[in-house]
Amino acid sequence: MSANVSDWSLLVGDAARRFALRKHRLFIGGDWREAADGATFETLDPASGTAITCVADAGQADVDAAVRAARVAFESSTWRRMTPIDRGRLLNRLADLIEFNAQELAELESLDNGKPLSAALNGDVPGTAKLFRYFAGWPSKLEGATIPVSPSGGRALLNYTRSEPVGVCGLIVPWNFPLSMAAWKLAPALAAGCGCILKPAEQTPLSALRLAELILEAGFPAGIVNVLTGRGATAGAALVAHPGVDKIAFTGSTQVGKAIAKQCADSLKRVTLELGGKSPNIILPDADPADVAEAAAAAIFYNQGQVCTAGSRLYIHKKHFDRVIADVTAKAQSIRIGPGLESGTQMGPLVSSLQHRKVSEYVHIGRSEGGVTVTGGGRPQNRPNGYFFEPTVFVETGDAARIVKEEIFGPVLTAMPWDDIDDLVHRANDSPFGLAAGVWTRDVKAAHRLAARLKAGTVWVNCYNVTDPASPFGGFKESGWGRELGRKGIENYLETQSVWINMD
Ligand code: ADP
Repeated sequence: MSANVSDWSLLVGDAARRFALRKHRLFIGGDWREAADGATFETLDPASGTAITCVADAGQADVDAAVRAARVAFESSTWRRMTPIDRGRLLNRLADLIEFNAQELAELESLDNGKPLSAALNGDVPGTAKLFRYFAGWPSKLEGATIPVSPSGGRALLNYTRSEPVGVCGLIVPWNFPLSMAAWKLAPALAAGCGCILKPAEQTPLSALRLAELILEAGFPAGIVNVLTGRGATAGAALVAHPGVDKIAFTGSTQVGKAIAKQCADSLKRVTLELGGKSPNIILPDADPADVAEAAAAAIFYNQGQVCTAGSRLYIHKKHFDRVIADVTAKAQSIRIGPGLESGTQMGPLVSSLQHRKVSEYVHIGRSEGGVTVTGGGRPQNRPNGYFFEPTVFVETGDAARIVKEEIFGPVLTAMPWDDIDDLVHRANDSPFGLAAGVWTRDVKAAHRLAARLKAGTVWVNCYNVTDPASPFGGFKESGWGRELGRKGIENYLETQSVWINMD
């Protein structure tokens, strides 16, 4: 074992170890190359804080090269004349390759992000394959319409619409679900016929780079997908500013999303944004408290709480408050914390030291504003290294407290009692975000009524954090612009052309 190889290498198979330890380059025009200025950065193992390997750090010249490659591939007759069925075939082939390499991809995801291997193996990776398979069916269904127009003067005019790919797309994704977030954007973009430049988050570049190899192996034309590893402020910003990019699809923080929207306004680049959340998870009086506590804990602690839809505001009807808090606390204390790759781990480390600091600061802020932690609140005692954080439950927070208002993006729950349903709806909606909400009840009428009153892009009733490639996903208010997945999702990557024919 060489000096820089730490414990993780004993926990992964040969394929993932070999891949992870390589020095990684940029994927441009179907080739692998160093950054033009030779710059690199390290990607870290969040379970130990040590470097895994070096990755190329794309700069302006590399963004220029990737945009050029994507444009050439997008305009090429190979791509433009490829039949929709053949485009679908490529996407299905990629899905097959993801399934075939599932163990390696899951190990890379767990290593780079910190999430439990079981979560990557049972969730992220099969979900990614399913997503490519779903969108593989779309190219041959992108129909236009003949429009029953009413021309004046008795003219005979035929009008119909066509769907055109929007062009070259910059796809900027975060580190919480690196592989699946890449797929959420790549799959509809490719199904629509676009050229793509994917920029994974600097914290988690590995699975996107392995995906690029599989894209090559699947037989996509060179340049139709390019992968630029690099930082947000440099590679990401250069992609957003580039005049050769027709559309930006971004998932990340609301703050960066707003900056991207402003920048895209200059050139009226198409832009879709999937941003932050502070989702209310609501327990109605008729819910069985014995059933809901475990689900409420999973809604916030899944993926170490680093989920934009995390059920971070738990509103418990006052008659169940003490019981649910006791059960959620017991659940939080029973979660096995450890390196994602270690067998039996239920919660891994946070992704980075920055994220660890941010979450710690929020706990400090919460306490200073009068909140009380009934469990958790810091680093687990038996985990002195890495970015581990305990599942944390706050009570006695006022509605105006910052930990109730702001997205923490960590395993920190604020639990609040409620009494009156109208007051509850007001409190649940009193947020700049509107991404998701949960409702727990056995009363079907109450469920439908409440769902319709919640200002959230997704409402889950008696379930949480469920998504499907066919179901639209996105946010109200400051949680974003547009919807991903399903028919709505592919429409983001299409322009509608209206064609008029004079039939006189
Ligand atoms: P987080 O704060 O959770 O890391 P960010 O919104 O900063 O989330 O990052 C999400 C993605 O956006 C990452 O790929 C990151 O590199 C990228 N990014 C960050 N800042 C910018 C920016 N100014 N322009 C374009 N992309 C950016």
